[in-house]
Amino acid sequence: MPHVEFDAITKSFGAVEVLPPLSLSIEKGEFVVLVGPSGCGKTTTLRILAGLETASSGRVRIGGRDVTDLRPGARDIAMVFQNYALYPHMTVRQNIGYAMKVHGTPQAEIESRVAEAARLLALEPYLDRKPRALSGGQRQRVAIGRALVRQPQVFLFDEPLSNLDAKLRVEMRTEIKLLQRRLGTTTVYVTHDQVEAMTMADRVVVMRAGRIEQAADPITLYERPANRFVANFIGSPAMNFFEASLAGGAVVLGSQTLPLPPDEARRLGNRPAVVFGIRPEHMRSSAHQATLTLIPEAIEPLGAHTLLLGTAEGQKVTAQVDPRFPAAVGQPASVPLDMTQAHFFDPGTGLRL
Ligand code: ATP
Repeated sequence: MPHVEFDAITKSFGAVEVLPPLSLSIEKGEFVVLVGPSGCGKTTTLRILAGLETASSGRVRIGGRDVTDLRPGARDIAMVFQNYALYPHMTVRQNIGYAMKVHGTPQAEIESRVAEAARLLALEPYLDRKPRALSGGQRQRVAIGRALVRQPQVFLFDEPLSNLDAKLRVEMRTEIKLLQRRLGTTTVYVTHDQVEAMTMADRVVVMRAGRIEQAADPITLYERPANRFVANFIGSPAMNFFEASLAGGAVVLGSQTLPLPPDEARRLGNRPAVVFGIRPEHMRSSAHQATLTLIPEAIEPLGAHTLLLGTAEGQKVTAQVDPRFPAAVGQPASVPLDMTQAHFFDPGTGLRL
């Protein structure tokens, strides 16, 4: 039985349908990340699970129990928000213990749970401070602590790291992931950051305009994106896409011919029009190598590798090459392509071929 289940939920705000029927099942202990561009409906989906928003139709179940008509406090969930929502006049200790106090939990139990959360989150030195005397990362840990002590069936996170600087974001994302592993609590996490999604999730749900484009583990999303949208959304720098055709066992890109591995060539056959996709990091040598000539318009050294940004056959391209790769702006450069990493999409539907 799934632990969390969205069963054909829809949501309209007035005449605007934000979620067409959306169904998603989440296993017990799973860390699921909803990701997608701004406005795709991630937060609305999470808020419907939390009970902060009412679905227009469909059912929501947690632990097999239909919670669709229950108020948020009766759903046995705990949510961590982007803006922390701490009580400014209370100490860290009081903030973390507040919900238990309201529920009438005995004082001794409140104290032991707060102590345990403070230990897990390295907040022990700050328990008697007020939020204004904490850094952003510490405040976020207090917000997490407050969710933790409730020992909910499900943790919900809505962009919890977006107010932190880049370095702290990376640290906190590891902390949250480790904590979730340790506690084994089913978690639904919303972000627009694909790196956050890929690094934290057991399963990433990529959404666009209220629809689930693909739900899969991070490696599958990266290696076998279901369509061009997912292929473009996952990976940085983004995948290159070229309008091309397939003929004689090769990709024909303008005047250039890029031979495919024989199995792929047989599987795909000849096609007058395809979208050929290759990631910048797969422009490297391989046993099934082709050579693409491009013209760099900009060269960006990043230390570990260098990006060539330019065009090939009049189409935009980004290549990630070795820092010692010889290239000059405006001068044709020939880069190797690992054709075992080539992706193909239908130019009409965008679906993976
Ligand atoms: P973001 O990453 O920007 O937060 P999101 O994917 O979380 O985006 P939602 O916040 O779920 O998206 O919003 C989905 C759509 O619903 C958006 O087009 C938004 O404008 C619309 N929407 C959300 N709340 C309301 C509301 N109360 N009234 C009307 N429209 C709303």
